Amino acid sequence: SIRTRFAPSPTGYLHVGGARTALFSWLYARKHGGRFILRIEDTDLERSSQESVNAILEGMTWLGLEYDEGPFYQTQRFDRYKEVIQQLLDQGDAYYCYCSREELDALREQQMANKEKPRYNGKCRHGVSNPSGEPVVRFKNPESGEVVIDDLVKGRIVVANKELDDLIIARSDGTPTYNLTVVVDDMDMGVTHVIRGDDHVNNTPRQINILQALGAPLPIYAHVPMILGPDGARLSKRHGAVSVMQYRNDGYLPEALLNYLVRLGWSHGDQELFSIEQMIELFELEKVNVSASTFNTDKLIWLNHQYIMNSDPAHVARHLAWHMGERGIDPATGPALSEVVKAQRERCKTLVDMANDSVYFYRDFAEYDDKAVKKNFKAGVDDVLQHLRDQFGALADWEADALHQVVLDSAERLQLNLGKVAQPLRVAVCGGSVSPAIDVTLKLLGREKTLNRLDRAIE
Ligand code: GLU
Repeated sequence: SIRTRFAPSPTGYLHVGGARTALFSWLYARKHGGRFILRIEDTDLERSSQESVNAILEGMTWLGLEYDEGPFYQTQRFDRYKEVIQQLLDQGDAYYCYCSREELDALREQQMANKEKPRYNGKCRHGVSNPSGEPVVRFKNPESGEVVIDDLVKGRIVVANKELDDLIIARSDGTPTYNLTVVVDDMDMGVTHVIRGDDHVNNTPRQINILQALGAPLPIYAHVPMILGPDGARLSKRHGAVSVMQYRNDGYLPEALLNYLVRLGWSHGDQELFSIEQMIELFELEKVNVSASTFNTDKLIWLNHQYIMNSDPAHVARHLAWHMGERGIDPATGPALSEVVKAQRERCKTLVDMANDSVYFYRDFAEYDDKAVKKNFKAGVDDVLQHLRDQFGALADWEADALHQVVLDSAERLQLNLGKVAQPLRVAVCGGSVSPAIDVTLKLLGREKTLNRLDRAIE
């Protein structure tokens, strides 16, 4: 059965590019009833950290990309890598190389001078007469023939073995190198489909040769193109947010980000919105664009707004709760968050906007918006607010219909147009001139806060 994996190196946050390959691997496993494995490639001890591991796990959890096996850590598998290196030595598919750094540098310089591709010349391949120093271990790459990869995204890739040199698989201190650990893990974990960024495509023929030497079945490969920023360079921090958790902080729903990422370089007719179930059903690696895709924040914002408007309000509310918490707000001190979502979702494209524009439902605002005051608190406004305060104070039921009627009746009684009543009222209770419909706003705010804030405005 199908087994896919996501194999991040914990050297930073979970990047959106990584999240996209993780999503593709996850979808592939889900679609085919397979298993999705998480493997932490933490052998670079200098650059790896527990903090990054945590950030990656947090990102996966937030996105809902749950793994069936793992996380496995490469640093816990050194004994196994040593065993495989020994096996390759024993069976004659690897050898000790004693060439010194100086020798290798001289070789490289000479090759560069001759305009040749720098590669190891195989000096130690057939034995060494005077071994001295701590050797590295090199893999004996086949000298003839070619490696053929039928990549699910890129199509057929053919690499001649004479283009590949004898790769170092163990350093002189005995530690395994990257290509060796990946091969051993993919073999031991029974990975059937290697879905990863196409920055790894050059490693693939080398990995295939090692797998073959080990008699392991070859996985199917799918190399996914990079994501670019608007200027055509690989997407990075200077283009804006690249960490998955930054998107959470910026007010995106995880489903919106997933929907955005699945559509980046893949399409299904002109359909834009895909539920997770539809992604699983419809996504096909074979239809991912061969060329890189450009990240488009406007499109992501549009999708986010679609998800905010059309998802179950209770679901959106759970995510909004996190943002309110960040603002020090306890949702128990005001209306149900799902009601706030219903009132605000047309206007708010992100949960950051929604949270910022909903604080007044829970906590008194520190000051009124200057512009709103200048525009709406003009001479005679106290009489309007006092009238409203009296009418609201006398209401038996605090319901939108009745609240709406009070505003209408007050405008008529005071012979003012509706805006001259509703806008000052809005500024008095919200602190600014933007809020949902006034009756909805008052209903959510509740009697006590409404009356207190009217009193505060009249003072
Ligand atoms: N650890 C590698 C990376 O983060 C991925 C290796 C792989 O998927 O084979 O780029």
